[in-house]
Amino acid sequence: MSEGPHLTFDLDQPGISQGHLVVPKGADCEALSLSVFSLNKGAGPRLLITGGCHGNELEGPIVARRLVEWLPEAQTCGRIIIVSVLNPPAVQAFTRNTPIDGLNLNRVFPGRANGSVTERIADAISRLLLPMADTVFDLHSFGPTWDFPPSTTTHPIADQDLMAKTIKMAEAFKLPMTLVWDHPDTPGMFDISAHNQGKVFVCAELGGGTIGAENLAIYEAGVRNALIALGLIEGKAECPIFRQRKSSQTLQTRRPADELASPARGIFEPRCSMLDEVKQGDLIGILHPMDSSSAASTDIRLPSTSIVCGIRSGGYVEVNEWLALLARSLAH
Ligand SMILES: [Zn+2]
Repeated sequence: MSEGPHLTFDLDQPGISQGHLVVPKGADCEALSLSVFSLNKGAGPRLLITGGCHGNELEGPIVARRLVEWLPEAQTCGRIIIVSVLNPPAVQAFTRNTPIDGLNLNRVFPGRANGSVTERIADAISRLLLPMADTVFDLHSFGPTWDFPPSTTTHPIADQDLMAKTIKMAEAFKLPMTLVWDHPDTPGMFDISAHNQGKVFVCAELGGGTIGAENLAIYEAGVRNALIALGLIEGKAECPIFRQRKSSQTLQTRRPADELASPARGIFEPRCSMLDEVKQGDLIGILHPMDSSSAASTDIRLPSTSIVCGIRSGGYVEVNEWLALLARSLAH
C-alpha cells in the first residue's frame, strides 16, 4: 500500500520549524519533497505563502526565500507557512507546466490523490496546507513576453463579503496595480479552491521582463506591506516607487471586451506602455507580418477608452493570441 501525502514535521509546534510536504510516488514518478517553513507565534492571523506554482516564474521563490531570512525575527504573532516552490519538477525544468505530465498546476486544483504528479501535488497542498491558513498569498510573475506592472490580482468572487475582504487584502500590498481580473480559464485554479473554503486568496503578479533587483525589491516591499496590514509584523507600509511613480490603482477587466486579440500572426510592435490611459481609436501597436516583406503591417487600435494593464512586449504572436489586456477603474 502506498503512503498518502504527509508532512515530515508537526506544523503545530511553536516557534520556527521546517521540514517537507511529501507528495507520494505514482506510476509517473517517485515521491517529491516540497520544502516547508513554519513560523508559529501563537494566536493571530494564519497565512500561507507559496511560490513556484509555475516553474518559469522564479521571482516568487526568491522573494519567499528572502522572507524566511527576516520573518523569524520580525513576526510578532500568528502563524505563517512558507512553501517557496510548489512545483519542483517545473522549476527545475524552468517550464510553466510540469514536464512529467504536461499539466498546469494552477488548473488542476483541488487535485487527485491517485492522479498524475501535478494532480498529486495539488491534492497534498489542498489537504495538508490549505486548511492551516485563513489567507493565502500565491507569488507569480508574468515573464519576458509581457509588459505588466507589479500587481496583485483576484478573480471576481460570487460571495460579496469575501470579494470585499480579498480586494482590501490585495490593495494592502500597495503595488502599482490591483486588478480584479475576469479570467476566461478559472476552473482548477488554486484561488478557486481556496475561495470554496472561504479563504482570502491574493495572487501577486510581478511584472514582465526578466528577473531584476529593482522588481524583486518592489515585490518584497509589497509582501511586507501586506504582512503589516495583517498585523503579523510591525512597521509602516510604503508605496514602492515604480517607473518614477509612487501610486497604486485598482482596476477591473471585463470579458471578452478587454482581451485584445491579434487579428493575424506576426511580430507585434507596442506603441504604448502599461498603465497608459488610451482613448478609443488610439494606436497601441503595429502588427508586422512575417510571411512576406511586401505585405502591409496592421495598425492595432483601441476599441474603447481604457487603461492598458498589460501589453505584449516581445515574441512572435499567433492569430487570436492576446496583444493587450485592458481595464478600467474598479467601480466600488
Ligand atoms: Zn503564474
